[in-house]
Amino acid sequence: MKPWNKAYTEAGWFVRRGIGGSSVANGRLNWTIAASSVAMELPSVLLDIDLRDPALGSALSSSDVPSRLPVMTCVKSDLWEHRQEYTFVDDAKEIRWISALTNGARAGSTNDMLVGSDQRSLVLERMTDTDLPTTEARYWAIGERFLGGNDFVRLLGSPYWLTEPMRCKCSCGGEMKMTVCVGSEGATREPLFGHEPFFIGEAALYWFVCWPCRRVVVLPQST
Ligand SMILES: [Zn+2]
Repeated sequence: MKPWNKAYTEAGWFVRRGIGGSSVANGRLNWTIAASSVAMELPSVLLDIDLRDPALGSALSSSDVPSRLPVMTCVKSDLWEHRQEYTFVDDAKEIRWISALTNGARAGSTNDMLVGSDQRSLVLERMTDTDLPTTEARYWAIGERFLGGNDFVRLLGSPYWLTEPMRCKCSCGGEMKMTVCVGSEGATREPLFGHEPFFIGEAALYWFVCWPCRRVVVLPQST
């Protein structure tokens, strides 16, 4: 299946640095993280997204939706190349990190990329038609900004897949919603997460969420 589709017409939001936003980058301090004993690396909270932000309109008005979404991944090693999973309690601001390791996987190389400890205010900017991969030409144009550009964090809306469209089922049997995808950040003096632009090569991460279970599965794609 191709990653562009004329049905991909649902506009989402870009997540950007900006003054006065209620979402933050590097939100780890806001959350308590409990990891199982197999965890080889504590994940980073890249984003702490305010799901009640008025910028989202009625996109997440269901009563199943929590107030905030912690967007987490391991970045200090290559654990992000594997399936990662966690649950969270938004009221208590607790995260239970379930897994990063699959059988045979290892925490091998170390990434130079570090996520900063200083929190940064974020704003949500609505996508326009040219940000939606409805045609092949648009798909490649969006890709330039998603891998090595400034539009590398997409929230909700029609997904931007690097390769095949993916689906993910929750352990409750429900379909998980692809909610956030992150590519690679272009050169900038104000990186979103760290002191260097976020870069994981020709790859992207996809956060699938089951709202009632507060369960998140992170899956990678690479070209
Ligand atoms: Zn579920």
